[in-house]
Order: sequence, then C-alpha cells, then structure tokens
Amino acid sequence: MTQKTAIVTGAARGIGLATARQFLAEGRRVAMVDRDAEALAEAAEGLEGAVPVPCDVSQPDQVAQMMEHCARELGRIDALVNNAGVADFGPIEDTTFARWRRVMDTNLDGVFLCTQAAIPHLRATRGAIVNIASISGLRASTLRVAYGTSKAAVIHLTMQQAAELGEYGIRANCVAPGPVNTKLALAVHTPEIRAAYHDAIPLNRYGSEDEIASVIVFLCSDKASYVTGQTIASDGGFQSTGVGLP
Ligand code: NAD
Repeated sequence: MTQKTAIVTGAARGIGLATARQFLAEGRRVAMVDRDAEALAEAAEGLEGAVPVPCDVSQPDQVAQMMEHCARELGRIDALVNNAGVADFGPIEDTTFARWRRVMDTNLDGVFLCTQAAIPHLRATRGAIVNIASISGLRASTLRVAYGTSKAAVIHLTMQQAAELGEYGIRANCVAPGPVNTKLALAVHTPEIRAAYHDAIPLNRYGSEDEIASVIVFLCSDKASYVTGQTIASDGGFQSTGVGLP
C-alpha cells in the first residue's frame, strides 16, 4: 500500500507538533516545517518518519526551496497543513504598520505561498489542504485588528482554494480553534482574558493541542472525502454562544 505523506508548517511546537505526531501515528511520513530550526530539530528527534525542514513561510524563495525539498524527500505530497502563525493583540489606533505586516506576512502570505507551491504536487495525489484560522477570524473584538483580519482572510482563502482546486480533486478546509494553552496564547492572554474565555466557552475550558490536531487529521483523511470549503470551529462551543471575544 502507498505510504501517505503530509507537510505541516509551524510544526516545532504547539498545534503543529501535535498534528505531525498524529499523522506519524497513523503511518504517514511528515515534513515538519518551521522557521525555528533549533526547536524543530529538537521536536523531530526520535520521531520515526519525520523530516524536519527549516523554512520561513513568509519568504517566497524559502517556500519554493522547501516545497522542492519536501517533494524530493517524501516522494509525494498528500496533505498540506498551513498552521504556522503569529499573534498580535492590539486595537487599530495602537497597531503600527510594522506589527500589521509581521502578522500578515506569516498568517496570510505564508498560507498563499505554501498553497501555490504545493498545488502541482497535490494535483498528482488529489490531496487535501487544511488551513488554521481562529475564532478571532469569525468574530471581531476591540483587541485583534491584525490577527483577526489575517484569520478572516484565511477563512476566505480556504473557500477560494476549494472553489478553484476542486476540479483537480483537491479539497481545502479550515479549522478555527478556540483558545489553546500554547506559547502563542500564553504570550497574549492576560488573566482577565483567560477568565473571560472560561466563562464564555460552554465547555468552560481551553482546548488541547491534540483536540485541534484530531480535527485537522480528520479533514485530511478519506473520511472527509466530500467535505471542502468548510471552516470548522473547534472551540468548546464558543462560536455558538453569541458572546463577544474577550
Ligand atoms: P505556537 O506559537 O505554539 O507555534 C507556532 C509555530 O509556528 C512555532 O513553532 C513558530 O516558530 C512557527 N512559525 C511562526 N511563524 C513562522 C513562519 N513565518 N515560518 C515558519 N514557522 C513559523 O502557536 P500555536 O498556538 O500552536 O498556533 C498554531 C496555529 O493555531 C496558528 O496559526 C495560530 O494562529 C492558530 N491558533 C492558535 C490558538 C491558540 O489559542 N493557541 C487559537 C486559535 C488559532
């Protein structure tokens, strides 16, 4: 039987690392992509079937080289998970253009660049794309102009990918996680934000990396073969409450 493969960006830690581990556990070979080469080497150590590939997904030249390397090392590309992301919390009036660009470079340009480079390989396998947005892309708050806008754009880009690439048998879906205790969230979630989330989420807790990863892996699998263009909130029910983002 053909061994399936996946590329996961932002795989040195957090949701990306949990996703890479779940793919490996189901027998896929996985290219783990991250711009933090040291953390990536540490994360991939001892993971059988993992291929660490240092790359900054916001840089077109690096992405082109990364995709060639992945195709060569893996032999085929069955799934692309655009997970690499950075956070920035601030209102419009306080957000400098440099901060705005830093967020867009990775969260939006990175998804565009990796997808474009992967299309010829995904066409060959009739593969799947999963983009990682956020509940911040579904609801506005007074705090997240750059982050929320980048994630809303990723949700639209997912629909665009599904519309354009369906004729090649490529599916594209999006996962919008609620809060998860990763380094990214720890950097921006104040005690007040944490308490507000706790109250606003029907399940009254943050999610785990594995709870997000299992949705990503499902969407890449044949079990989701008729699902494309969708955004699935994995958020403990937050999106269904109508409560504003803290
Ligand atoms: P994390 O900070 O733990 O991990 C992100 C990884 O992405 C890091 O290893 C980092 O080095 C890498 N990365 C960042 N910019 C990169 C770039 N330009 N090129 C390559 N690698 C890069 O974060 P996480 O919480 O695991 O987040 C993963 C994704 O989930 C992000 O897209 C994030 O926006 C999204 N998300 C997270 C939460 C949360 O609460 N943690 C909620 C909603 C959405």
